[in-house]
Formats: sequence, C-alpha cells, structure tokens
Amino acid sequence: MIMDSACSLLHSAHEDEREFEMGDYQGPVARWCAGCGDHSVLTSAQRLLAEEQLKPETTVFVSGIGCSSRFPHYMKTYGFHGIHGRALPVATGVKLTRPDLDVFVVMGDGDCVSIGAGHWIHAIRYNVDMVALLLDNNIYGLTKKQTSPTTPQGYRSNTQPRGSYLPAMNPLEATLGVTNASFVAQTAEWVPAHLFATLKAAHAHKGFAFVRILQRCPHFTPDMYAEAVKKPDIIEILDHPEGIRADGIDKVYKNKISHDPLNLNAARELAQDQSAIRLGLFFRDESYPRYEETRATNKRTAREKMDILNEEFDSYAV
Ligand code: SF4
Repeated sequence: MIMDSACSLLHSAHEDEREFEMGDYQGPVARWCAGCGDHSVLTSAQRLLAEEQLKPETTVFVSGIGCSSRFPHYMKTYGFHGIHGRALPVATGVKLTRPDLDVFVVMGDGDCVSIGAGHWIHAIRYNVDMVALLLDNNIYGLTKKQTSPTTPQGYRSNTQPRGSYLPAMNPLEATLGVTNASFVAQTAEWVPAHLFATLKAAHAHKGFAFVRILQRCPHFTPDMYAEAVKKPDIIEILDHPEGIRADGIDKVYKNKISHDPLNLNAARELAQDQSAIRLGLFFRDESYPRYEETRATNKRTAREKMDILNEEFDSYAV
C-alpha cells in the first residue's frame, strides 16, 4: 500500500523555495499507547526532516509489521507499510530505483531480528545508502507480549510464561559481525537529544546506517528500561570527536568511555560486553563499497541490454 500523504506531486520552481517546518511532516495523531517510546522517535524523525529541509515528496519511510511499523502512517511523506520482515528489501528496491530519494526504514525487533533476519544481514552487506531504525522494545507488542529474539533470558511473556529460554540476541554484535557494515549506532528514545543527534549522524552517513533505538513499551514491559531511565549512571556514552555529540546531556549522563568509531574490533568488544548500556557511535567507515555505486559502473542503456540479451538468446538457436 503506497500512501500519497505528501501534499502534492506537482511542484513548481516556486514551491522548491518552500521552507518546511515540523508540522509539514506530521500526519494523523499516532495511535500508539500513551507513553510508548515510538512517539519520541516519531517526533525526532520529524524534527530531523525539518532541520535537513527534506522535501516530503522525495522522502520515503518503509516499514514491516509491528507497533512501530505504523510509523509511515504518521509521516506526511511517502510511505510503504509493507510485509512482515520485508521492509529492508522493499527499501533497497526503492533506493536502487530512485537514488534521489531519502529512504528511512522502521522495524521492530520481531520484524528485523526474527523474520527479517536474512534480509537484515544482506542489507548490511549491500550497504545501500539509507537509514535503518530498529525500534527495540524486546517484545512483540502488536501480538500482545510474545517473546522476541531480543527478550532477555528469563523474562516472562505470554508465549514463554516461565521466562524466555534463550539468551537474548544482541543486534549490535550481529550487525558489527557482518561484512561491509559501515555505520552502527545505539541510542535510547528517552534521551531525546542523543536520539536526535544519532538520527542526524545516520542520515549524514553515505551508506547503510543501522541505528538500534532502545524503546520502552509501557503497556507490556514497563519494567524493561525503568532502571536505566531512573539511574543515568548505568548508561555509558561513547565519546569521541568523530562520534555522536549530543548537546546538553553531559550534566545527566556523566559516565563516558572514549571510543574511536573507526576501530571495528573495539566496537565489537564494546557491543559484546553487557556490563553497561552504551549509547553512541560504535562504528563508521564511509570507505566501504555501496551496492548502488559498484553496480553503477556497469550501467548500460536499455538498447544495449536488449542487444546483449538477443545475442545471448541467439547463441541457443538450433
Ligand atoms: Fe508501544 Fe507497547 Fe503499546 Fe505497542 S504495545 S504501542 S510498543 S506501548
């Protein structure tokens, strides 16, 4: 379902001089629960679009299935509310066909880390220029508190009432382990300045920018991040001149660790170590090949492609 919620396809040279405000990106009132972390991410995304003056008609939000996947409905941009686990291949197709568009992907933990895991790994490797947001609330919210791959071991859910059997999957560790991963960051929706700075850095990145957003689900897992919200000291901020700098959080979030985002091995170690909740840029390297660029070196006209195909078919003539 493609939603044409952008104001109009007809834009003149005069309209190109428009100045966009946050309201220009705001769709209908979001139907998420009160206090749901998705609201904060939505506001931050709308603020980013306004700050970067992205045109609504050349911006696309693609999602899969889940609570957070209702995201495109609430944006006054183009959107594609797709199939469970298939947001990334859809978004890849959009970006390869229309490289001029700004493409954002919104997925939940069930959507990305479970049913979409195969697509997730290959989207990282393809490194197509887009922003992929994993809104990780550690539970399937839409299907009423079912264990997801990121549910902590022992956490009780409606599908595993005695507690989740397995250790939770670590999306940062997994992403950093994939060949060609070029941007990996983590933020939290209850730290809006850091969330916004992270989205901004992800959008500025040339390549596949993967952002895991720790997201509260007050309806089903109100206790999941309660301690982290109350005690800022258990959060560690990754600090580096080349990293993500969020204005005004230093007074509250004093616990910092220096980390050079070009150091992949250190990023992997930090992601693996669960002794603290770490927010910041784990890794960024824009020198990694992007699929759309490497593919573009082989650009042929439609006529040339037809000639090659005909020649190939002719070789089978009997
Ligand atoms: Fe948000 Fe949880 Fe409500 Fe879904 S169930 S809208 S994730 S608070």
